[in-house]
Amino acid sequence: MARRVFEAWKGNNKFVFGGRLIFGPDAWSIPFTILLILTPVVFFSIFVATHLHNEFLPNNATGHVFFVGVILISVFVLIFLFLTSARDPGIVPRNSHPPEEELCYDTSVSSDGRQTPTVQIPRTKEVMVYGVAVRVKYCDTCMLYRPPRCSHCSICDNCVERFDHHCPWVGQCIGVRNYRCFFMFVSSAALLCIYIFSMSALYIKVLMDRNQGTTVWRAMRESPWSVMLMIYCFISLWFVGGLTGFHLYLISTNQTTYENFRYRSDNRINVYNRGCSNNFLEIFFSKVKPSRNDFRAFIKEETPRNITLATTWEGPEEAEEENREERRQKVEEDLDMDEDVMKLQQRFNKEEEGIDQSHQKIDIDLLRNESNERVPTTRSEAKHGRTRGDAQDDELVAGSSVRESRSSAAAEEGR
Ligand SMILES: [Zn+2]
Ligand SMILES: [Zn+2]
Repeated sequence: MARRVFEAWKGNNKFVFGGRLIFGPDAWSIPFTILLILTPVVFFSIFVATHLHNEFLPNNATGHVFFVGVILISVFVLIFLFLTSARDPGIVPRNSHPPEEELCYDTSVSSDGRQTPTVQIPRTKEVMVYGVAVRVKYCDTCMLYRPPRCSHCSICDNCVERFDHHCPWVGQCIGVRNYRCFFMFVSSAALLCIYIFSMSALYIKVLMDRNQGTTVWRAMRESPWSVMLMIYCFISLWFVGGLTGFHLYLISTNQTTYENFRYRSDNRINVYNRGCSNNFLEIFFSKVKPSRNDFRAFIKEETPRNITLATTWEGPEEAEEENREERRQKVEEDLDMDEDVMKLQQRFNKEEEGIDQSHQKIDIDLLRNESNERVPTTRSEAKHGRTRGDAQDDELVAGSSVRESRSSAAAEEGR
């Protein structure tokens, strides 16, 4: 029976309702978060709002304003929590193979003059964003070049676009598709704290006014619930209010939390900063990118496209059996790359067994590379007699274009 995408999902996500909702692996924390939100709301409604109702407008429907206020804000908080936690944060779908067009064919010459072809993926490449070269890294797990601002979440095990951070409270990555909801969640939670705090303070004030001459302490002793709620909300406000302020700063400068922590020391220029008002417009009024994953889609049987690449082999004629063995060892020593490329290399070696010594052929099954984010680029490069001038036509962030810099040596410095 055909399986659906979410049933064969390689990330650590949890799916419910047949792949309609996607959560992070730590989604168990969401009920805990809801408890932290609803507990003060319930106590406030029972011990403070009812009394305020009775004090102010006992026989009037408008007296319910204290309830309505707290319920309304709570509903907003919970809706934004749901929208943040249960949807695709902007996951870049994995490739099933390394991008074939990015493979480098290097021939290393050993001491006795034999040549060994190896297959490598350049670790980084440069992408132009608003006219500035930005280095993007190759993700070994997802087998793709991460688009700018994309990062691999180690908790969810996915590459997420405009990765902000992984939030343990909402059990989900915060990325391009849920950042706005996350901010609204945090800021409405801060509003809820302010509301409960100020209404509890109001009730203390009411108690003081009712019995003229009552001290604050007496009034507080009279309504211990108000005091507890005020303490709880005061502490919570440090957290959610501080977070709201921090994200307001990040939004105004168009940074992600990840970039802020990562690049602060580097003194890097922020190429995404387009002025405070434009940054706010971008976050709050731009269209949410559609998800690149259809979790409920059936996995299609794909017909592999075989592309045969030939590289000229100039090894010695004799002792081929030994040579092949040595070559294989050499190949493995040369490879400073991930398992996936190793697998490709092994396949490469297997192919070699059956063919004429002077020619090596690699069969690479090219599966769909729709998830391979790249922008139109033109590259002309002659490598081992093979000229490449292919134009890639994938889409990326608007207004950016790709420039190639294939240097494996520069690879690690980007880390
Ligand atoms: Zn990744
Ligand atoms: Zn995550």
